[in-house]
Amino acid sequence: MKTICDMTIEEYTKKVSGFHGHEAPGLIIGGFMVDLAMKNLPAGEFFDVICETSTCLPDAIQLLTPCTIGNGWLKIFDAGKFAVVFYNKETGEGVRVFLDIEKLKSYNEIYAWFMKLKKKSEQDKPLLLNEIRSAGDNILSYSKVNVSESFLGKKSKGQTGVCPICGEAYPVKDGDKCIGCQGSMPY
Ligand code: ZN
Repeated sequence: MKTICDMTIEEYTKKVSGFHGHEAPGLIIGGFMVDLAMKNLPAGEFFDVICETSTCLPDAIQLLTPCTIGNGWLKIFDAGKFAVVFYNKETGEGVRVFLDIEKLKSYNEIYAWFMKLKKKSEQDKPLLLNEIRSAGDNILSYSKVNVSESFLGKKSKGQTGVCPICGEAYPVKDGDKCIGCQGSMPY
C-alpha cells in the first residue's frame, strides 16, 4: 500500500482538507514529493526546504515537515515550477524532487490538468485524484543539488529602527523610512 510520510493516503487527504480547505490535486502530489525527498535526504539531522512555487506545494511541506514559512526553515523561491529542494543548511547538499513531464505523459488526466489543457468545468476531478493516488511517485524524479551559499546558515535581519513617518519599527537596511512609507504597501 502506498503511504505518505507513514500516513495512508486517506489519512493524509483528511489533513489536507482540514488545512488547505479542499482536496487540492497539487497537494496530494506534493505529499508524494515530500515523501520521496525525505527518503533521499542528505545526511544530517536538520534540513531546510526551498519550494519553487507559491501555489499549493508549500502547504504539503508545512503539513508533513517541521519546516514552515513562519519558522524560516521553508523558503519560497517562486520560479513557478512544481519542485521542492530539501537540503542540509550547513553543507548545502540537497535533493530536488520535481514533477517529471516525460513520466506524466502516461497519465492523461494529470497531464491535462497540469498543463492546463482543459477548462475547470471539463475536468473530471474524481478521475484526476484517482490517477494521482495510483501514480504515487511514479510521476516524480529527483536529482542531487548543491544549494548556493545565500540560502545557508543563519540570516541576520540587521538593525531595527523606528520609521520617522509612521512611527512603527522597521529594518534599517530598507532605508531612511519603512518600505510602507516609501510607497510599496499593498493598501
Ligand atoms: Zn513608515
